[in-house]
Amino acid sequence: MRRSAWIFLAAILLPSLALAWLAVRSARDQQVILEHQQAIISQDVTDALAKKVRDQLDDTRSAFVQRTQKLLEKSSSPPALARNFNRELHNSWNLAEVGFAVGLNGTIYSPASRQGTVAKTFRSENDRFLSNRENVPVFAQNSQQTFSLDLSRQPTAVVKPQAQMTQVERQVVPKKSFAPQQSALSNTLPAESDFRKVIGTDISGSLARFLENKLRLMVWYRPPNAGSLVFGAQITQQELIQILTPLLLSPDLHRGTDAAGSNSAKSAYCLALLDDRGKPVALSRSGFTADWKHPLVATEIGETLPHWEAALYLVDPQQINRSASTLQLTLGFVVLTLVAAILLGGWLMAANVRRQMTLAQQKTDFVGNVSHELKTPLTSIRMFADMLADGRVTEPDRQSKYLRIISAESARLTRLINNVLDFARLERGVFSAERGVCDLVAVVQEVVDTCGPHLETVGVPLSLEIKAQTLGIVGDRDALAQIILNLLSNAEKYGDHEILVRVRQEKGASGFLGCVDVLDRGPGIPPKQREAIFKPFRRLHDSLASGVSGSGLGLTLARRMAQAHGGNVTCSARPGGGSCFTLAVPLSQAKSDED
Ligand code: ADP
Repeated sequence: MRRSAWIFLAAILLPSLALAWLAVRSARDQQVILEHQQAIISQDVTDALAKKVRDQLDDTRSAFVQRTQKLLEKSSSPPALARNFNRELHNSWNLAEVGFAVGLNGTIYSPASRQGTVAKTFRSENDRFLSNRENVPVFAQNSQQTFSLDLSRQPTAVVKPQAQMTQVERQVVPKKSFAPQQSALSNTLPAESDFRKVIGTDISGSLARFLENKLRLMVWYRPPNAGSLVFGAQITQQELIQILTPLLLSPDLHRGTDAAGSNSAKSAYCLALLDDRGKPVALSRSGFTADWKHPLVATEIGETLPHWEAALYLVDPQQINRSASTLQLTLGFVVLTLVAAILLGGWLMAANVRRQMTLAQQKTDFVGNVSHELKTPLTSIRMFADMLADGRVTEPDRQSKYLRIISAESARLTRLINNVLDFARLERGVFSAERGVCDLVAVVQEVVDTCGPHLETVGVPLSLEIKAQTLGIVGDRDALAQIILNLLSNAEKYGDHEILVRVRQEKGASGFLGCVDVLDRGPGIPPKQREAIFKPFRRLHDSLASGVSGSGLGLTLARRMAQAHGGNVTCSARPGGGSCFTLAVPLSQAKSDED
């Protein structure tokens, strides 16, 4: 038993509990895993949006170059256009807040301060920078492409002068960050430079400056045939946002993911373009609000729009929690069920092993008991038969006493063998009662007459109390006699004073019953054992300890035979001490009707 317990513990219970523990741990991490999956998928979306914005800004720069080239074609000479560039550009390009033209020697041709407040402000903010008298922090993105011929979006890589290289090395590494540290992790840093250094040898480019914490975005173009003249424009942010907003609605950015990472629902998230202060300037869902500081993921746009970010917010942030909880609950339930099933299985196994062991022990006891039961009467029979055969006993009284002992012991042997054979037949399911109408009172009378003299001789007086004249039943006379014999035999073995047999009639739930009580003054049966003693091979401890021999089958047989008659054998306490075993069988219809 102990070995089986160890095997069960080592081979089944411990591995199962370890697996359950691992499953519970992985269930606990589900939310983090789901969030990471979602973040990885979403990061691709914000990266793509950031790229679209950069491409759009490149397009804007190309548009400026084309516009300037057209103006140059129309004007008499580049210097003539330079003087009127602010006005001319304003009239033909709505993205321009201010148009400017400067010579690389530091001369500023346009705008003239008198051209309005915007021009005046522009001059006061940029004069020193544009005329190369001051180095300012600036984010620059240049290209040597000839925009008049090639308007492709991607600027090709070019060899930059040293001043530019430093800048290039720092730039355009779009930040990948998960909320909330986005602003703390910016990879976009400005370089200190004046306008001439920004331009270097390039043909066109864009630059951004922060002035009083406000972003100023400029594009510039140095026409190849205009000497040292550089034309540029400060871009209206409102107009720029107008151009960028449709990018957030691009179908390819809304394909394929929802909050749980599955391929569905376009609207599971909202894309936002956040300005340098982290405020949304464009949204893919109008009216959407969120804690703007905490997007699920965000990607920096880069040098062209420093500190601006493409950000993604879940429309229903709780969905991940819910999915994780559902997963956790399901896993928890499965693990609990498995552990419960294993524990139940283990308990059943243990109970079964224990039952088998008890049964094996009972069978061993049974063999020992039966051998003893067989040997004891055989020894007596042989001894008394030998004495009589040898003629050693001459007195007639002793001769008849010995013969009675031989007869009683033979009867005991017969009863034992009958019990064993009947039990075997019952176990195989081939026991069949030979049914006929008989009188229970007569059967009891017969058994008492047979056993009475023997019981008298062993000092256990037997009295019979008949409380009904006849009790007609349909049944097997011999089986009924054997039941009463077994009960009497037990009363003799376990109760050593006197035995009372009472025959009576009783009204049961479904008709009249013929009852036979066998009452003794023995030790009685503890209430908890009153059912157990009817199980095969079951014997009480004190019976074993007191050395009273028995097979443990007598009561089993008695009950099963009674049940075959539609009745039962039960056990109760006898008032005043001892046990009362009652055989109850239904009376035949005729008799019941009479009563
Ligand atoms: P056994 O051959 O051991 O008598 P039984 O099936 O007839 O087998 O009885 C089962 C057990 O019930 C007995 O071993 C004994 O412990 C207990 N028992 C039966 N009858 C009595 C009784 N009249 N008084 C006390 N104990 C009894």
